[in-house]
Amino acid sequence: MFLFDANWYQILLKFEVLMLITLKFWKWIKPKNVSFVILLLKMCFIFGQDLQTKNVIVIDPGHGGKDTGAIGKNKVQEKDVALCIAKEILRLNKILLNDKFDMYSTRYNDTLISLSDRSRLGKTLKADLFVSLHCNASATSSKGMDVYVHNTNNEEVHIKNSIALGLSILNESALKLGFKKRGVQFANFQVLRENTTYRPSILIEMGFVTNTDEADYFLKSKNIRAMALAILMGLYNHLNI
Ligand SMILES: [Zn+2]
Repeated sequence: MFLFDANWYQILLKFEVLMLITLKFWKWIKPKNVSFVILLLKMCFIFGQDLQTKNVIVIDPGHGGKDTGAIGKNKVQEKDVALCIAKEILRLNKILLNDKFDMYSTRYNDTLISLSDRSRLGKTLKADLFVSLHCNASATSSKGMDVYVHNTNNEEVHIKNSIALGLSILNESALKLGFKKRGVQFANFQVLRENTTYRPSILIEMGFVTNTDEADYFLKSKNIRAMALAILMGLYNHLNI
């Protein structure tokens, strides 16, 4: 008995072709075309079947509750931007990628979770990736996106993969959404320190809420959706190379 019959082969072939078309198209996307790309991608995953073990990904929207994080222009609060984008990433994974990834958020509401509890979730779930979402702030007019990885010298930890993941996300988000790409930086942030030994871990600074243009950007729901989709595609590309 054949494992794949003719019908199966047809389905797989359609899936491959649609994926190629969609991924090629994504390289030229403008934020306003996001809805169309979502439709295309959804078609791909309807045709495809997830035969692999799911990657477990923890998305960590920074701050929450009484900890607002940075407060920027037009009273945009970092904690709100991070939560909206995290929820949208999870939603798109569900409706667009047909739950390709086993995704969790460290918070689903405007509540403050301790840094050690955020790391603990990664440990409890035996997560494959940990992605913390933040916005930057500056007294100057600085703008653009950064990704941070832990500044350890320990060669056994997942630094190389963390850098690759960060670059994959920056390539999808910063460039295609029109943000300045500030690159991958190193820092001793607690959530990175506590996760990087076990899994590739990054902290994304998704733009400066203190910059008028970038604060305005996060006020529009279509932009929240575009940023979430870009981060999701960065994760997807990294895990499917
Ligand atoms: Zn922050």
